[in-house]
Amino acid sequence: MADTARRDVIIVGSGPAGLTAAIYTARASLGPIVVEGEPSSNSDQPGGQLMLTTEVENFPGFIDGITGPELMSNMRAQAARFGAEFVTTKVTRVELSDGRQKVWAVDPATGKEMELTSRSVIVSTGARSLMLGLESESRLLGHGVSTCATCDGFFFRGRKIAVVGGGDSALEEANFLTKFGETVTVVHRRSELRASKIMQDRARANPKLNFIWDAVVTDVVGDTSVEGLELRNVATGEESTLDAAGLFVAIGHVPNTDLFKGQLDMDDNGYLVTSDGTRTNIEGVFACGDVQDHRYRQAVTAAGSGCMAAIDAERWLEGVGPDDTAETENWGG
Ligand code: NAP
Repeated sequence: MADTARRDVIIVGSGPAGLTAAIYTARASLGPIVVEGEPSSNSDQPGGQLMLTTEVENFPGFIDGITGPELMSNMRAQAARFGAEFVTTKVTRVELSDGRQKVWAVDPATGKEMELTSRSVIVSTGARSLMLGLESESRLLGHGVSTCATCDGFFFRGRKIAVVGGGDSALEEANFLTKFGETVTVVHRRSELRASKIMQDRARANPKLNFIWDAVVTDVVGDTSVEGLELRNVATGEESTLDAAGLFVAIGHVPNTDLFKGQLDMDDNGYLVTSDGTRTNIEGVFACGDVQDHRYRQAVTAAGSGCMAAIDAERWLEGVGPDDTAETENWGG
C-alpha cells in the first residue's frame, strides 16, 4: 500500500502534464503522490495518449526522435528519482474544497477503496480522442492510424492520406496534411460539413484536398501498416476501397473530467476552466494539460502547463503556510 500520510500535493493523471508537475513538485520537496491510472484502461492508462503513439519527433531535445512510451517512461523515472511516489490505479471519486482535498482510489494491493488527503491537487487527467471503434483501427493506431496531424503528418510525405470527420478538427487536420500528402481525402458520413464556413471555404479551395460524402469507414486495410480503407456509402449501401497510407481520425475529443463534475468549473465541452495560470475555481486545485486545453493538445504544451501547475501549487502552499493540522490518515484499506 502507498504511504498514506497526508500530502501537500496529489497529482491525478500521468501524461506529460502530470509527470512534469511531478518532477517539479518532487524537486521542490513537496513529496507528490501521482495516481497514474491503470494499464487496462484505454483513456486513463499511465502515460496518457503518448502511450498510443510510436515516434515522437517534435518533443524538443531528441534529435532523432523518441517513441511515445519511452518518453513517458523517462519522465516517470525522472520524477521518481526526485522522490515522486506512484500509485497505479484510477481515482474513483474526489471531494474538493478550499484547502482540503480528498481523493479516493482502489488500492491496487488490496482491491479496497482507499482515501488520500492533501492540501492541493493537480488535475492532469487529459482528454481522449473519439475513435471509430474498429478492431483494425486500434490495431494500427501508431502504425498509420493517427489522431494528431501535427504529430504524425510528417511521416506521410508524398503519400495518400485520408481524414475521417466533418467538423473543424477534420478540416484543420486535412488542410495541414496537404503540406505532406500527395492527396488528402476527407471521408464524411453526411453530405454536409459541420465545420465553420471559413474552414469549409479554405478546404474547398485547396487543390490537394478532396471529399468523399455520405461514407463511413468499415475497415482499415493492412496488417502492420495502413494500405487502404474499406468504405460504405450510407445512402446507397455501395462499398468501395480507398487507397491510403495514413488515416487520421478527427471526429472529436472528450476531456476526462467526469470525476470533477459539479465541483470544478467546466466549459460547454467539459474542459476544465483555469484562470490566473492553472488555478481552478477551488483554492488549492490546479489543472494542466489537455484536460484544460483543447487548442494546442501537444506533449510539449502539456508538459509546459504541468510545470506551471507545479509552480502555482508550490506558491499557493507557501502562501497558506505550514499545515498545522497535518495528520496521518489511512486510505481506508
Ligand atoms: P465536432 O465539431 O463534434 O465534429 C465531429 C465530426 O466528426 C462531425 O462532422 C461528425 O459528423 C463526425 N463524427 C462524429 N462521430 C463520428 C463517427 N463515429 N464516424 C464518423 N464521423 C463521426 O468535433 P471537432 O471537429 O473536434 O470540433 C470540436 C469543437 O472544437 C468545435 O466547437 C469546433 O468548432 C472547435 N474547433 C475549432 C477549430 C478552429 O476554429 N480552428 C479547430 C478545431 C476544433 P456529423 O457532422 O455527422 O455529426
